[in-house]
Amino acid sequence: MKDCVFCKIVKGEIPTNFVYKGKDVVAFRDINPMAPVHILIIPKQHISSLANVKDKDKDTLGMIQVCASKIAKKLGIDNAFRLLIASGEKAGQSVFHLHYHLVGGWKEPSIKMESEPGGLRK
Ligand code: 5GP
Ligand code: ZN
Repeated sequence: MKDCVFCKIVKGEIPTNFVYKGKDVVAFRDINPMAPVHILIIPKQHISSLANVKDKDKDTLGMIQVCASKIAKKLGIDNAFRLLIASGEKAGQSVFHLHYHLVGGWKEPSIKMESEPGGLRK
């Protein structure tokens, strides 16, 4: 979709070092990390939010979780990570191309559940 920053990343219009590049899913580092490791995993296809997924998206959504597991292992954070999704502006979503935040790499077990992904930055 035109003017979507994540579609531009998928199309290579914004130079990006991909952590994972597959048929339907890509992953790259968040520009403003909320944790020592902070990866965004996204469908290549433009889906605006989790509220707008369709039955046909189920394989892609499943692949995102498989990717999260593989990337966590590859980056050595598979003993402690989170997979977070904000859906809707009031829930903290700021980019309206579906993305899953894979966060981890903490040194201390001090992370508490927060109401939205951005809350972990505080
Ligand atoms: P949200 O707030 O929608 O849950 O998450 C959007 C995320 O996208 C934020 O964590 C933000 O830092 C990240 N982000 C926004 N623009 C860019 C960009 O151009 N490149 C990268 N790598 N991350 C971005
Ligand atoms: Zn998009």
